[in-house]
Amino acid sequence: MMKKKINILIIASVAALITLSTIQYYLISNTFQLKKDTFIKEVKSQLKFIEVNERLESLDDSYNELITDVLENYHNGVLPKEKLLAKVKTFNDSLNEKFETYFKNTLKEKSFPYVVNFQEQIVSAVILHPAGNDTILSPKSKGILLFGSTLDPKTRIDFNANQWSSNSLSEDDNNMLEANRSLHFEIRSNSYIDIPEWRSEVLRQMTGLLFLSVISILTVILLFIYALSSFIRQKKVADIKTDFINNITHELKTPLATLSVATKTMQKETVLTDSKLLSATVQTVDRQRSRLQNLIDQVLNNSLGFKDITLKTETVSSKELLHNLVIDFKLTNTEIQITTEFEKNDTTLVIDKFHMTTALLNVLDNAVKYGGKSIMVSSKKDGNNFQVAIQDDGIGIARGKQEKVFEKFYRVGNTDIHTTKGLGLGLYYVRQIVKAHRGIVDLESKVGEGTKIYINIPIQGA
Ligand code: ADP
Repeated sequence: MMKKKINILIIASVAALITLSTIQYYLISNTFQLKKDTFIKEVKSQLKFIEVNERLESLDDSYNELITDVLENYHNGVLPKEKLLAKVKTFNDSLNEKFETYFKNTLKEKSFPYVVNFQEQIVSAVILHPAGNDTILSPKSKGILLFGSTLDPKTRIDFNANQWSSNSLSEDDNNMLEANRSLHFEIRSNSYIDIPEWRSEVLRQMTGLLFLSVISILTVILLFIYALSSFIRQKKVADIKTDFINNITHELKTPLATLSVATKTMQKETVLTDSKLLSATVQTVDRQRSRLQNLIDQVLNNSLGFKDITLKTETVSSKELLHNLVIDFKLTNTEIQITTEFEKNDTTLVIDKFHMTTALLNVLDNAVKYGGKSIMVSSKKDGNNFQVAIQDDGIGIARGKQEKVFEKFYRVGNTDIHTTKGLGLGLYYVRQIVKAHRGIVDLESKVGEGTKIYINIPIQGA
């Protein structure tokens, strides 16, 4: 139910995020296009000087002269077509040198901020004749380079299209008008520009916008992740609390039930006169009281984090500590087989004896509670590290749960609380205490084979 809700939430949010990003992308690419157009328009208007009218007079004049000359020769049959074209090409090349210098100098004068390349290409040339037009250069051909350099058709941008005809040429020059009256021709040229840096320039203009939109999308994503994770965390805390309340009610019920049986027993006359029975019942009452006390202590102890625990440290002999621990444990767990394998040399530990003993007892209790029939307690000294390991042959802990068992209130298979009692605080307490001693707890376990818990604490002053 909850999982379904979370899934719906995730799907809805992801869909909204995708839509948002798509809209952002659309808006940004539109802006990019707009900025690009404006940029190119601006550059074009600054490059107006290349256009025919403003071009160096001398260039145009020499060109007109040549063209008229060669076309006439061609028309009169003096010059074959190939020679004509070759002549035009050579002439173009010599003119182009002049043009390039002029182009570069003008750009420098204007202190134009970008690299611009220019190309003007003669695309067609036709002699117009009443008896039929003579196409010298067809629009389908590659054309002839007039000015500038050959640009990549993929990146070049259209700049202008020009057309000269004999009429427009001869109008300027009266002498020519006389000479060329019989010859009419039409030449078309296209010009292009190429600004290699246009993309980076447009993007530079858009950096602010791009930055803001990336930041806003990232913020939305982070907020979403944060909201979702805190939602899941709260849900987990709520679950844990419910489990804890279930567990503690169960734990409290048993001693209370025993206590009520005991008090009922004590109200009977026969019991009051039988001192043996009475003392047995009083002992039961006391045991249940201490159980309740224990439970309350556990809850109180565990409301503290390891940073809040103040240790009452003292020097303790490792041998004595472990020896007493095992002897006491054997007294209450007679049916369990305990073997020990302690380090030969005694180690002096600086620890809080009470807390450390409780922690070790928690681990031993768990070993029995979770199916252990024989338990091995061993110790080892390794440099500045003292290690106690407690191994059982119980039910084991599945791999995925192994890290979690140290969490507060965590219990494996919380549903069968009736088979084994607990609050899920035992190992949490162990970890807090070991951490307070600046040590590390660790475990190795295999389902069905058993569990081995390692407690490592630094030997102080060593
Ligand atoms: P509790 O024993 O009160 O449930 P603990 O914090 O001591 O809480 O242990 C957490 C869980 O880890 C237990 O519920 C149990 O499932 C698992 N566990 C702890 N020790 C062992 C062990 N020796 N063998 C198998 N499972 C264990």
